[in-house]
Amino acid sequence: MLKNRDTLEAWDRDHFFHPSTHLAQFARGDAPQRVIEGGEGVYITDREGETSLDAFAGLYCVNVGYGRTEIADAIAEQAKKLAYYHAYVGHGSEASIELARKIVERAPEGLNHVYFGLSGSDANETNIKLIWYYNNILGRPEKKKIISRWRGYHGSGVMTGSLTGLKLFHDAFDLPRAPILHTEAPYYFRRPDPAMSEAAFSDWCAAKLEELILEEGPDTVAAFIGEPVLGTGGIVPPPEGYWAKIQAVLDKYDILLVADEVVTGFGRLGSMFGSDHYGMKPDLITIAKGLTSAYAPLSGSIVGDKMWAVLEKGTDEMGPIGHGWTYSAHPLCAAAGVANLELIDSLKLVDNARETGAYFNKAMADALSDHPLVGEVRGEGLLAAVELVEDKTERRLFDASRKVGPQVAASMLERGVIARAMPQGDIIGFAPPLCLTREEADIIVDTAKSAVDAVA
Ligand code: PLP
Repeated sequence: MLKNRDTLEAWDRDHFFHPSTHLAQFARGDAPQRVIEGGEGVYITDREGETSLDAFAGLYCVNVGYGRTEIADAIAEQAKKLAYYHAYVGHGSEASIELARKIVERAPEGLNHVYFGLSGSDANETNIKLIWYYNNILGRPEKKKIISRWRGYHGSGVMTGSLTGLKLFHDAFDLPRAPILHTEAPYYFRRPDPAMSEAAFSDWCAAKLEELILEEGPDTVAAFIGEPVLGTGGIVPPPEGYWAKIQAVLDKYDILLVADEVVTGFGRLGSMFGSDHYGMKPDLITIAKGLTSAYAPLSGSIVGDKMWAVLEKGTDEMGPIGHGWTYSAHPLCAAAGVANLELIDSLKLVDNARETGAYFNKAMADALSDHPLVGEVRGEGLLAAVELVEDKTERRLFDASRKVGPQVAASMLERGVIARAMPQGDIIGFAPPLCLTREEADIIVDTAKSAVDAVA
């Protein structure tokens, strides 16, 4: 254990390549640098002994909260018994089999098989390959394009970075454009005509999707991917009727639906899955984050029965499926997943996300909706966003160079609460652990109000 603060910080600057970080500022010592040492409930503590209420659950992943010894013990027990064995050619551990079963028991009907990975990004890479494989086996080699949405977030890999519809993740990288397409985001606050009702806006989004499919040729479009609630793109719940209208278009042209539930899976919206929450009928569901509450890295693709039958047929024709990760279904991560899902049940965290989430969203809206800098307060379950605008009536954005969102997040941090300045637009995001209490919700809301007042 290093004791010397200056040495540790220098090593950090000199050797640790941090993700999503301004490298030059960090190297100069001009960017935030914080070494986190511990966590308990919704709080984390750094090396200086400073404590913060983490209203973003890490990266919306520590759903059961910090310091759960039940999960730590399950990982330790598994490590002592069997730290690793692979899952290739029919192998597995008890923990990985039990976890697959537990996931399927909770998943929407008709999704009965789980392929395990380690991150949301690799799970979406798996999904893309399964979709292409599926259409190859069905003798439709042209049906390969995948439609995502502007502002969608589906990962940082080469193909998944292309699926992601945010500038920051495309600019400066030569990610492949084809065969990925983007359609309109279901972002009612930024609707093209202020007079549009929510239902009319959903019709417009579905019509735009259909237009794109017809332009490209339905025989070339394989799948549509979307988060039940847009997450990193701004925490945007769908407008009224959106998913039913999108589903109707997809069904019409025999296009698969991938529900990316990396954020919404396992309770965040107050339902076990966002797909059930909004009546979606996905063929594939992407899971990660809340699957283990980030106590160990684990992700999965839950495969629906329609695809599964074709995958089985494919292996009869072509032999074993040529897709595998060394750490797929890693026993330590699977043990963490089993203990985590048991805790979500025993602590009734899905109910808490619904009830405390409703309280939290109402309190946030009561505190900030009328504020002159606030364009919209929105959310669902324990996901919420405050969108800041320069002009409330015209919904006019601030010039990006003013960095109003990051300023509000920094001001909240100074007051002891971590919220996230979302990467595009001046949007403050909230996704606290699902064990949040009403008292903790009040602290977050009061702090957000003080920070917005301070920046105004
Ligand atoms: N999909 C969604 C909806 C996400 O929010 C994320 C990460 O935030 C990912 C995929 C990628 O997950 P990971 O960062 O584990 O690769």
